Amino acid sequence: MKDINKSRENINKIDKKIASLFEERMNEAKEIAKYKFDNNLDIENKERETELIEKNLSFINSDELKDYYQSFEEAMFKISKNYQHKIISVLNDSLDNIRTITVEAGMEDSYPVYITKGNISNLIDLINIRCKKILIVTDTNIPESYIEEVKNEATNSFVLKIQAGEENKSIESYLKIMDALSMNKFTRSDAIVALGGGVIGDLAGFAASTYMRGIDFYNIPTSLLAMVDSSIGGKTAIDYKDTKNIVGAFYQPKAVLIALNTLKTLPTREFYNGLVESIKMAASFNKDLFNLIKNSNNLDDDLLTIIYESLKIKAWVVKKDVKEKNLRKALNFGHSLGHVYEILSKQTSSPLLHGEAVGIGMLDFSSDEVKQELKEVLKKYNLPTSLNEEQKKFITKENILDKLSLDKKILNNKLNAIYVKEIGSFEFLKLDVNEIIKED
Ligand code: ADP
Ligand code: ZN
Repeated sequence: MKDINKSRENINKIDKKIASLFEERMNEAKEIAKYKFDNNLDIENKERETELIEKNLSFINSDELKDYYQSFEEAMFKISKNYQHKIISVLNDSLDNIRTITVEAGMEDSYPVYITKGNISNLIDLINIRCKKILIVTDTNIPESYIEEVKNEATNSFVLKIQAGEENKSIESYLKIMDALSMNKFTRSDAIVALGGGVIGDLAGFAASTYMRGIDFYNIPTSLLAMVDSSIGGKTAIDYKDTKNIVGAFYQPKAVLIALNTLKTLPTREFYNGLVESIKMAASFNKDLFNLIKNSNNLDDDLLTIIYESLKIKAWVVKKDVKEKNLRKALNFGHSLGHVYEILSKQTSSPLLHGEAVGIGMLDFSSDEVKQELKEVLKKYNLPTSLNEEQKKFITKENILDKLSLDKKILNNKLNAIYVKEIGSFEFLKLDVNEIIKED
């Protein structure tokens, strides 16, 4: 009896040692898994495994136990490999970290938006472009490496580079796309891929909507503004004779791919310009998102969430109102005056970017409290909170009213506006233009 107890006690002690050796061994296995991940090596290595098991068997003196030990060793290798596979899949996930939003824009027109912190190549095989002919429409500022990432996935691709700049969202550029498509005999089973900012997305999307009454369209936005706003919702258009977006269509993409790494080459001013659209959506729809942007210590860390949450708002609004009949107008917070500032500032030596103008445009449609909060956020990201002296000379009350009535935005001195009284909510109001636009 006594002997058995002694043996049981000893086995307990030995098991404890084995448990601790097991942990030690698995930790080493983890290190090897990480190394193999970094160096792209395979976990499976049968030859080495057989060799090692044989060597370990030689440490066993008892012939009787050799077979048992072999089973033990084999089991250990199997457990270790399973663990390594798990480590690698976790590492892979954190690298890809793909988030998906589905935009429901009518029965036939639902499509996914894929978002990664990584590169376009993390996402590109999610859209099946291998068996299609594709035309990549891009602009002269987009780095060649992004074009390569798309081309690598396609077997039959053509590239059309448009000169960068809003002035090229034109009928001439549209015709260049038509030429490229028809000369290369594109059919309805082929596709257009937009790779660039909002200008390219609008232009290529419109071309896709009209060529052969519509061919497949994929959008890969590379500017923050296009990522959070213009790439989803299906609005496509070109400018014509001084009027922005006058020729266009509602046409939904088949998928949108957002790779945050492409923002690394986006000029800083363009980046903050795009952030305004997120601030706008946060201010009128989501207080938590607003606070995240307001209090962020490191935008890089929070960017995935900011883009994801902004897109969730946009997708929700688009679902409720695909053709912009009512709710979708709420996305125009800050835009009625913002748009006028943007246009009129073009005559000055410091033209405002769209987002910069919208930022200022939001202030007059907010309660005092919200105005303060908005100003704080805009200042934090070095965005303007008022017009400068030169801009004020061109953007007078008279010019603003002229432009607004020309665009039929005012009727009997009343302006339909989106007003934010409290962060995270909005209301539609008819406001007296004389209240909003003060002489100064
Ligand atoms: P939007 O602000 O509507 O996206 P654009 O399409 O004109 O307007 O993009 C803004 C500018 O940024 C353009 O000059 C465009 O070529 C450039 N751009 C867009 N994405 C990138 C990028 N990832 N890297 C460098 N430049 C970019
Ligand atoms: Zn806008």
